[in-house]
Amino acid sequence: MYTDLYLDANATSSVLPAACEAARQAMLDCYGNPSSTHATGLQARALLDATRACAQRVLGAGEGQVVFTSGATESIGAAVLSALVAVRERRARGEASGKLLVYGATEHKAVPETLAHWNRLLGLDLELVALPVDAQGRHRLEILRALAPDAALVCTMAANNETGVVSDLDGIEAVLQSSGSSAYWMVDSVQALGKLDLRLASRRIDYAPFSGHKLYAPKGIGMLYVRAGAPFTPLTAGGGQEGAMRAGTENMPGIAALGAVLAALEAGDTFRSHAQMEAMRARLAEALRAAFPGIVFNMPFAGSLPTTLNFSVPGVSSQELLNMFDAAGVRVSSGSACSSAKAAPSYVLAAMDRPDWCASAAVRMSFGPLADAAFIDEAVARIARCGAALRASGLVPGAAPVRSCDGVLQLRQDQQVSWLLLDAASGSAVAIDTQAALAARMENLIRAHGCQLRAVLDTGAIAASGSAALAAAFGIAPGWPQDAASVTLGDGSRAAALQLGARQLARLSSAGGDSYLLGSPDLQAAHVSHAFTGAAALPGQLNAEACCASAVARLARLVHRDTVLCRAEDPAHELCSSPAAEYARGGALAPLLAAEPSLVRAPAAASNDAQALSPAELAAFLAAHPQAQLIDVREVFEQAASAAAPAAVRSVPLTELTAHAPQWLQDSAAPLVFFCRSGVRGARAAACLQRLGHPQVWYVAGPADAVLAAA
Ligand code: PLP
Repeated sequence: MYTDLYLDANATSSVLPAACEAARQAMLDCYGNPSSTHATGLQARALLDATRACAQRVLGAGEGQVVFTSGATESIGAAVLSALVAVRERRARGEASGKLLVYGATEHKAVPETLAHWNRLLGLDLELVALPVDAQGRHRLEILRALAPDAALVCTMAANNETGVVSDLDGIEAVLQSSGSSAYWMVDSVQALGKLDLRLASRRIDYAPFSGHKLYAPKGIGMLYVRAGAPFTPLTAGGGQEGAMRAGTENMPGIAALGAVLAALEAGDTFRSHAQMEAMRARLAEALRAAFPGIVFNMPFAGSLPTTLNFSVPGVSSQELLNMFDAAGVRVSSGSACSSAKAAPSYVLAAMDRPDWCASAAVRMSFGPLADAAFIDEAVARIARCGAALRASGLVPGAAPVRSCDGVLQLRQDQQVSWLLLDAASGSAVAIDTQAALAARMENLIRAHGCQLRAVLDTGAIAASGSAALAAAFGIAPGWPQDAASVTLGDGSRAAALQLGARQLARLSSAGGDSYLLGSPDLQAAHVSHAFTGAAALPGQLNAEACCASAVARLARLVHRDTVLCRAEDPAHELCSSPAAEYARGGALAPLLAAEPSLVRAPAAASNDAQALSPAELAAFLAAHPQAQLIDVREVFEQAASAAAPAAVRSVPLTELTAHAPQWLQDSAAPLVFFCRSGVRGARAAACLQRLGHPQVWYVAGPADAVLAAA
């Protein structure tokens, strides 16, 4: 019944069918300009007036005004401008006007950014002060009490968008009253509409912004409540619309649609009650607890909106959880800003003093008051599927059988890389450059694969501060094991080596740190599949110290042109490199590699960009290239959570790409087409293989669902 299960209602919502119909009518039938005095205009004016009257009743606006805007950000702008212009006037009259702009530490960014913007433009030089919250996310009223006498404007949201925490508006009002503060008060009520009874006119609140799209109206329509008697300065001037409070012809389709939502709220026959939503949240929370043992909720259940859950799962990043939920068709959002390479902790959770890992790994799951029992049933089932998928991946303890990974696993923490060698046949594992944040994950993976940890090695390139913990977990000493044998390398020299099933791992020591060669059946240059180069060779650059130059020169004699170079740092998400790729790049390694002609190969393709296919082009491409391999680079837990893939699709998670690269380079006749959840990782895989010299590489610039449908 459901394909997408949309659990991101705090970000936006679909549009209520009645709202779509109202907008349609406003465009086709009631399309007049409400400022026109003929009948068509009067009809539109009637719609506008009726919608405003309904909004006033629903919001409890009393004598206050409701202005239609484009959304909450505009409403916040108008409210802040109005308050600050009034502060400037108070100042000019020599009245007490306050010198602080106080805003809750967990406000949506629109609030502090707008405060800073108008403070600067109006040249007021007021001081912005973030009002701290307690561990429950509630404003620290004793601090507000101290600030209130000096406050010019106080901004405290009604309910938080990340956590659903509901503010104590009565408590805040009591503080403002008892301190005799003359501050204006704005309450961002975006997340409260339809979920809390705001009784606006019964409170001291001067301004309350709203956004239609958070409650089943379309984007581009919002409201601003202005208390009767509160000062107002319009953001726009012109034709005098909205009682001269917001000039510009009204967005009538949006207003009509919002009107349909407000009418449904007033009638009380469309949306779930508070108690029903609380019961739904309890079911989701129970399903999450069962699916992810150890889960931590980042918000108090009492005192939060019944529609929002915010949680973190130990050992799993928010991006990984989001990817997995997305694969299961469950749309949630990351509670933290992880658009950059480093997952930035959520400032909301940081303000609540949540532990760093919780603030960086948070996921928000939110539903709207239209949700019904069937929707929650389906969500519960999919959450259980995601829990099983995560356990089956071996990433968390308590593993069920895993799809085993054999070879080289690449684990990232921000820009740094740890490596795990798993040899299924011999049941042995070796860790290289174990970062502290990845030690527990590596331990889980080794145990889930039933492997014995043979060595915990460092190249010295990065702070591998998890090595001791990982070694201790398996009762071994970190470092090169004492019982290693000795083998002959490609240049005839001898080196200490570990036997891992059919593979051998040799250590190359240099003054700049250690490197390791992996090969099978021996370590003659042609058989070296991977080199863990650590500090000796980073992509395109060479450690300036002479000792590294000599280490690279030696390495160049021990490998072949397609040996996969595995580095300890990977800021550009290149995944891996090879001597041929480094030569083609022409960086600092090139002259050293040029001394070994066997390592040199002209670049395979003139272009540096792998070719993108749109999902729509895929079917025709596959028909024209029957040999092509379609490769899903999503991680094991995403694939397990997703609908079963057609047999033609091969699974090579991005973390295992370096294990497969040698084979693809050897057998390069078949075109490779990579895809992932969104296209980003597919593009990275394709760029990597192309850089390594594979002649026929593509990726799908589109979502996995579309690829699986076309395959
Ligand atoms: N305030 C809160 C609490 C919000 O959640 C949002 C949107 O996420 C906004 C303000 C901004 O709303 P809009 O982008 O619709 O202007």
